[in-house]
Amino acid sequence: MENTIQIYNTLTRKKEVFEPIHAPNVGMYVCGPTVYSDVHLGNCRTFISFDLIFRYLKYVGYKVRYVRNITDAGHLEGDRDEGDDKFAKRAKLEQLEPMEIVQKYTLGFHDVLRIFNTLPPSIEPTATGHIIEQIEMIKEIMANGYAYEANGTIYFDVDKYSKTYNYTILTNRNLEDMLANTRELGGQDEKRGRLDFALWIKAKPETLMKWVSPWGVGFPGWHIECSAMSAKYLGKEFDIHGGGMDLAATHHTNEIAQSEACSHVQPARIWMHTNMLTVNGTRMSKSAGNGFLPHELFSGDHPLLTKGFSPMTVKFFMLQAHYRSTLDFSNDALDASEKGFKRLMNAVALIDKLVASDASDFEIEPLRLRCVQAMNDDFNSPVVIAELFEASRIINSVYDGKAKISVEELAKLKQLMQDFVFEVFGLMNEDSNNGELNSVLNLVIDIRKTAKENKDYATSDRIRVGLQEMGIQLKDSKEGTNWSKI
Ligand code: AMP
Ligand code: ZN
Repeated sequence: MENTIQIYNTLTRKKEVFEPIHAPNVGMYVCGPTVYSDVHLGNCRTFISFDLIFRYLKYVGYKVRYVRNITDAGHLEGDRDEGDDKFAKRAKLEQLEPMEIVQKYTLGFHDVLRIFNTLPPSIEPTATGHIIEQIEMIKEIMANGYAYEANGTIYFDVDKYSKTYNYTILTNRNLEDMLANTRELGGQDEKRGRLDFALWIKAKPETLMKWVSPWGVGFPGWHIECSAMSAKYLGKEFDIHGGGMDLAATHHTNEIAQSEACSHVQPARIWMHTNMLTVNGTRMSKSAGNGFLPHELFSGDHPLLTKGFSPMTVKFFMLQAHYRSTLDFSNDALDASEKGFKRLMNAVALIDKLVASDASDFEIEPLRLRCVQAMNDDFNSPVVIAELFEASRIINSVYDGKAKISVEELAKLKQLMQDFVFEVFGLMNEDSNNGELNSVLNLVIDIRKTAKENKDYATSDRIRVGLQEMGIQLKDSKEGTNWSKI
């Protein structure tokens, strides 16, 4: 493999050289959405970040099996086996079957990710489709002595597990402090230890989604689905496990515990966590009520928005931050991203119009290398964007006749933009969908040419100024007239 990629591993708290277990194959598991409501923009940030990682690993030649689950059962409102079932509650509210809720929001999730031009994962397994695998795993954990039954519910025994393994390996917390800070749950004293969590939960008479198990009728806990499905599709040990940072302390900590208690191995070599999208410094979340829905952002129909922003502007805004940095939402930041994205796309549109010379004022290889190095350094997309702006400056200066580029360097420049803008970042030229606009403008440009030939300067100026007012700039050169968005 030509590229050495360094990835920050939450588990070891440092960047490590990425060495897949079965190179060139890579197994990557990412915790997907809980499909009981619309995904908000924060969720999208996490999935766009992992799309970037998936795309880059493929770009450098790895054969990636990317598994991203759909949580469609077993997610209670509280993190600690308490509260209502999210799906049942929503089903009641919308007067639908729980599986209608699942279907509705899974389709909505797919639509949103398609708008952001993310690639579909290789496998998208659902919790409800893997009840048998989860029951089998719970049986093994019990057989190994790390879980116990209490009134039809199965709990993971954190105390017993901690005697052999490190329960706080992912977060580096102190177990004693965690115990001291964990509140006792009223009515849940069937748990032996405060940190114990449910693997299987006994159904109540009103429970809608339930299955038969060796311990009676019930449903799986939230954490076991990811352990069971990652092992099924990627093996007991695989390369990368990812999700949002908020998942590390409970969900991923419990996943590690379950996998070790079942098969005695830590499941993922590298644990990757994306940072949160915030609004005025507060994490965007469904429960905080500050979660923009993507369509609200596109239309501008939200009290916190001054106007709408296109999907690619929003995606570009996200790529302008490193995936491990927080990203705060603001109208000003999105405005700046909108300008930056337009600048980049205008430059990309001009490449095909550049005329090569015998000599070249630029060498593209160092620029390409800097892009590769940035991506190899824990997927540093903001640094790549700075380099792409440098490439845009080169394009503009050649187009304006201020500098020269040779045929070979021009070919390299085209390849660079194709690779990073479209293949690795998955951006799209939103205007190129608009073939009609292009045809109309070509017609208008032709009418202006005729007007000029007829010395009808009033009409030709009216066309130029009128277009300028609409944000479209005409540029005349020896080869003819081109247009670009201002
Ligand atoms: P959920 O549907 O709540 O289970 O979340 C799906 C994914 O989105 C998880 O990986 C979360 O960690 C992630 N996520 C939730 N809120 C945010 C946020 N504000 N910023 C980035 N990622 C988030
Ligand atoms: Zn998960």
